[in-house]
Amino acid sequence: MSKPELWVIAERRLDHVEPTTFQLLTKARQLAGDRFHTVAILFEATNDHLETELQPYAPDEIRIVRDDRFPTATDAEHADALAQLVAQYQPNSILFGATITGRSIAPRLQAKLLTGLTADCLDLRFDDETLVATKPSYGDNIMCEIICPDHRPQMATVRPNTFVAEPATGTAELTPVTVAFHPVERLQVKTATPVVNTATTVGDASRVVALGRGAANTATIDTATRLAEKLGGRIGVSRPLTDLDRFTHDDQIGQSGNTIHPDLILNFGISGAVQYLVGMQSAKTIVAVNSDSNAPIFDVADYGYVGDANAFMTALLAQFV
Ligand SMILES: Cc1cc2nc3c(=O)[nH]c(=O)nc-3n(C[C@H](O)[C@H](O)[C@H](O)COP(=O)(O)OP(=O)(O)OC[C@H]3O[C@@H](n4cnc5c(N)ncnc54)[C@H](O)[C@@H]3O)c2cc1C
Repeated sequence: MSKPELWVIAERRLDHVEPTTFQLLTKARQLAGDRFHTVAILFEATNDHLETELQPYAPDEIRIVRDDRFPTATDAEHADALAQLVAQYQPNSILFGATITGRSIAPRLQAKLLTGLTADCLDLRFDDETLVATKPSYGDNIMCEIICPDHRPQMATVRPNTFVAEPATGTAELTPVTVAFHPVERLQVKTATPVVNTATTVGDASRVVALGRGAANTATIDTATRLAEKLGGRIGVSRPLTDLDRFTHDDQIGQSGNTIHPDLILNFGISGAVQYLVGMQSAKTIVAVNSDSNAPIFDVADYGYVGDANAFMTALLAQFV
């Protein structure tokens, strides 16, 4: 009997595959063992070869819909095409990145298939062939495990950077597939200027200077900005700082913000609340600077300094001159 299929929907960002796809392929491989057949679903133009970006993450198979209309298709048109593929192959489970695109296509597909979708997951496992998805619930105060016992496929969107992408050995079978393209009527707008956000986020940075309420005054933020530039990194913040004009939710680290895995994170004036820690504690090297020696951030830090945030940053900056 053939193995149940575990799909990852490859997402495109400009001319490349969006990195969350690699993270999901890595997790899918770990979840699958030899029990599931892992499949990446890829839509691309006839001249594209994005499968070369997927191959290092070694899904068992890459199914490629090669059609010049899809790279510019709407989310509704993608959902329609995916519904056709689901009808043909009957996958057990489908994973999307909880990106803007994934969050838009996944519920459209779910509505067509009348199955369950767990959104914004932070972990996944299988109990036999049942997908168990972990996600924050009740105002992010508790973690829930959610299953979809009666309907298939089981679907989940997973927050970017929840899992770490790791290449693997293995050769993916490349399978061309075709679907009918059903144009969905588009809204007419008078002027249409495509807006493409190419900005990197705190989640993409390998070095992060993280600021909390104890490092929130203008002088300290200015010093931190210079330090981040010297380190070739980015500023990230704890939740209270998103109230300042200089920062937004996109800069926030933590349970209700970004999950990050930088090589280095320097935490200044951050107490270390659990909702903050879950977003950064898998950083490779954690440094904490806090005036309170009992601050919980020191429990997860590889290196700690008890003292003033701005004084430490200024001393560190002096090392670069
Ligand atoms: C459902 C829910 C979701 C949440 N999600 C998030 C989230 O995603 N991200 C997040 O960050 N928070 C989140 N929070 C809030 C979280 O509980 C904490 O309130 C928040 O992380 C505290 O931020 P902080 O460490 O900057 O501030 P504080 O807890 O106020 O800590 C400030 C620290 O600065 C130190 N300090 C003060 N002056 C100095 C100085 N001069 N130099 C050095 N250190 C100094 C103090 O000793 C203190 O430890 C969430 C809360 C809830 C209930």
